[in-house]
Amino acid sequence: MISLEWNEDMCVGIDEIDADHKKILIIIAAIIDAIDINANAETIEKHFSELAACTASHFKHEEALMKTMGFEDFIEHQKGHQGFLVQLPELKNKLLNSNNAEAAGEVSQFLYDWVIEHILIADMDYVHAFYSEEKYSVSFKAIFQRSSEWLSQRVNISTRVLITALLPILGMLLLSFIAIKDNYQQYKNMLLLDNLTQIVQQVNSLTHNLQVERGLLSSYISSDYQRFSKALTSQQHKSNDEIYAFTTLLNSRKALLTEPMLIEFINSTKIDITELIIFRNGLNSTSISSEKILTGYNLIIGKLLSRVNRLSHIKMDAEFANNITAINAIVGLKEILGQQRELGTQLIDDDLSTHELIHSERYKQLYMQLGMQLNAIFIFNYSATPEQQQTCGKLCNVAKQKAFINKTIEDLMLKPGKEQNSQFWFITLTNRIDDIEIVTDKIINDLDTKTQLKLERLESRFYLVIIIISTIVVLNTLFSTILYHSVITPIRRITHALKQVTLGRYNQQMNESASKDEIGALYGAYETLRRKLLQADMSKNIIKRQQQSLLDRRKERDRYRELASRDTLTGALNRRKFNLILKQEINFAKQDKQKLSLLLLDIDHFKRINDTYGHAGGDQALRDFYDICSNSVKSSDIVARIGGEEFAILMPETDKAQAHVIAERLRHNIQALQIPYGQETIRLTASIGLAQWHEYDSFNVDEFISHTDKALYQAKRDGRNCVVEAST
Ligand code: GH3
Ligand code: MG
Ligand code: MG
Repeated sequence: MISLEWNEDMCVGIDEIDADHKKILIIIAAIIDAIDINANAETIEKHFSELAACTASHFKHEEALMKTMGFEDFIEHQKGHQGFLVQLPELKNKLLNSNNAEAAGEVSQFLYDWVIEHILIADMDYVHAFYSEEKYSVSFKAIFQRSSEWLSQRVNISTRVLITALLPILGMLLLSFIAIKDNYQQYKNMLLLDNLTQIVQQVNSLTHNLQVERGLLSSYISSDYQRFSKALTSQQHKSNDEIYAFTTLLNSRKALLTEPMLIEFINSTKIDITELIIFRNGLNSTSISSEKILTGYNLIIGKLLSRVNRLSHIKMDAEFANNITAINAIVGLKEILGQQRELGTQLIDDDLSTHELIHSERYKQLYMQLGMQLNAIFIFNYSATPEQQQTCGKLCNVAKQKAFINKTIEDLMLKPGKEQNSQFWFITLTNRIDDIEIVTDKIINDLDTKTQLKLERLESRFYLVIIIISTIVVLNTLFSTILYHSVITPIRRITHALKQVTLGRYNQQMNESASKDEIGALYGAYETLRRKLLQADMSKNIIKRQQQSLLDRRKERDRYRELASRDTLTGALNRRKFNLILKQEINFAKQDKQKLSLLLLDIDHFKRINDTYGHAGGDQALRDFYDICSNSVKSSDIVARIGGEEFAILMPETDKAQAHVIAERLRHNIQALQIPYGQETIRLTASIGLAQWHEYDSFNVDEFISHTDKALYQAKRDGRNCVVEAST
């Protein structure tokens, strides 16, 4: 037994369509019930016409809706509708005409399958399309949602995951590139500064030695050369070493540097060094004046210092440029003091009167140098850090320096005792120069330490950035892989499994305990679905088997019923069945205003046949009599044996005139019938009574039969082997 009921899950969400579906479902359920209880043709007819009307109007609604939304499978869907409407009358006829349980079961099943398929598959498809076409909104959220939907329809999930995973890596790489580039720039600057510091240090060292050499030389020439000779020789060796060290530094750096100003510095300085070497070699000549010697040294030292000074113009951080400027200033200051020392020694040695002294060229130079000296201190103070200024202390205090020089000049130049003064002047200034040399070395060393420290810091920052990037890239790759394996792979597996389920294969199991997240829940839901479907499938098989056995039982029952309604000797319908059919036919005739005629046949003198040929001969005659009757009428006419040798033929849609013709033909056929029986041939005739059913006669079954029977009786009386119509 198939049960068919409306379930709210069958709603497609459009009220009009849902209402139609409910109606169709009710009608089909009624048809299935009618088939089940073997309802009469009238009921079946009624339900089928209802179904035809209802489905036709429903299809109209649907098609109008599909057209408005431009549903792409419209034609296909419409064909399905038309096909069903054509099939409906065929189904009805199959049901009414076949009169067997199997055909009825098939019709039931077909209608059941059709309605379920129509609602749950065909209609839900187009209704979904209808919904996805609908929602249009202009809000930002909706636009964002629509654009992400648009993108997700075009970019598959693996690519989406890849992009999501790759974007942070790319962003990280970009940021790291910027950081490394910045780091590299700083590193380059620091390297440059490191080189500059070393060069400045070396220039300082060289100039210092040259200054000492110059001092010793000038003292050697101007005064007690015996006393200075040893010191000078030792200093000259030291200077040689410095020249060599400086040349080596310049040669070693040149290839590494890209800064044009620095390269130019190295090239020019190397020329200066060559000049210096030539100049120093020429000093052995005795003809050279002390004036020239001083000027020569001054020139070369001045050149070296001015070249180093120019290096502070190289593009670099202000802080470091200031450092270089400060160092240059203090180195310059030392040189000025050196020159002052030599100039002052000479002035004292000149032993001039106060008047001559004040107007002498050297004295003016001495004061000019004093100005330069103050200028150098000013530049130092301007560029140096407070820390460096503190290192320099009172040596870099303008007022104190000015006072000191003035006092020294006054004390030593303008007072008698020249030899002592000259020595005192030399020592005083040498001490001063040495103090400045100490300060210079300290400032340069500090800067060098600072530079080295910063270089180290930059290096470790570079490695740190590299480590962070590598870690992030590795982690990101790891998580992308995890994401891929924990999302994409399960989705693919579950999609495959679901596809298998739609094909009716339930063997794809999913391990729901694999993960406790959404994917785990998805697996769990799939697994539950699979088991439920499997269960339903098995129940369906049980139901099918039950249905089959029900069908078998019904068939058997029908067979028994059929047997019970047939006469065993001839195979004709028996009287009981005939009465039922006659009742039904009278109802149809009444309802449809149709004609209906009845023949009653009685074999003439049958007793004699029995007597002549025996009972078996009589039986044979009865069988052949039935055959000739059934073969002489239409298949829709009903032939029954209603008594010993009495038969009835019911002819629907036949009036008495037509029935009369048939009866005459039949009588003729009977008369001509030769029944072979052993060596003999049995022949017989029959008397036929005929009547047409009329509503106005209010014939019920019994009345109709007895009315016809009267005609038969009349035929017997009229001499048998004739047809008599019942009088109306
Ligand atoms: P009438 O022309 O007046 O009808 O004469 P009749 O002999 O045919 O009529 P009646 O009703 O007197 O006899 C009917 C006979 O049919 C009686 C009975 O023995 C016989 N008969 C009834 N059933 C069977 C049957 O199943 N087999 C055989 N062989 N004879 C049967
Ligand atoms: Mg008879
Ligand atoms: Mg009889």
